[in-house]
Amino acid sequence: MSEPFNLLWLQAGSCGGCTMSTLAADDVGLVRALERFNIRLLWHPSLSEESGADALAILEGAADGRIRVDALCVEGAILTGPNGTGRFQLLSGTGKPLAQWVAAIAAHARAVLAIGSCAAFGGVPTATSNPTDAVGLVYAGADSGGLLGTEFRSGAGLPVINVAGCAPIPAG
Ligand code: SF4
Repeated sequence: MSEPFNLLWLQAGSCGGCTMSTLAADDVGLVRALERFNIRLLWHPSLSEESGADALAILEGAADGRIRVDALCVEGAILTGPNGTGRFQLLSGTGKPLAQWVAAIAAHARAVLAIGSCAAFGGVPTATSNPTDAVGLVYAGADSGGLLGTEFRSGAGLPVINVAGCAPIPAG
């Protein structure tokens, strides 16, 4: 069998609904659907067994390019507050903002996907006064920008792939 396609999933400012939707993927559910396409789930914060140091080892390897990431899926808005530090959302156990992890892993990933409205343009967390300064990966509300910016290209030369929906329909 050929090398599996490595998928890494991060949850930013998210209700978790995109993951819940994905669990119903295809006619067989997410786990079987991934097997069907020879996709290896490197890590998912809700679904993976690895936690603590084991999870951190995967993330660090992905962030410095030692572990190949064919697709980085980001669920939820990127919280950039307060004052652009991103410290409204630290990745548990690392002391580092989730925004930094996303940017570091995206810099090595073959493809980057914004899963759902929140990751695409900020979505629900940007409502009313947007107290957490939430943005998407390439859009901040209706404006271009976001965490990665419009010039971003993945390792495969692709812009961020926005998967529409709140939550996206799992069958795609
Ligand atoms: S896009 Fe919808 S379902 Fe997905 S994290 Fe945002 S609010 Fe939740």
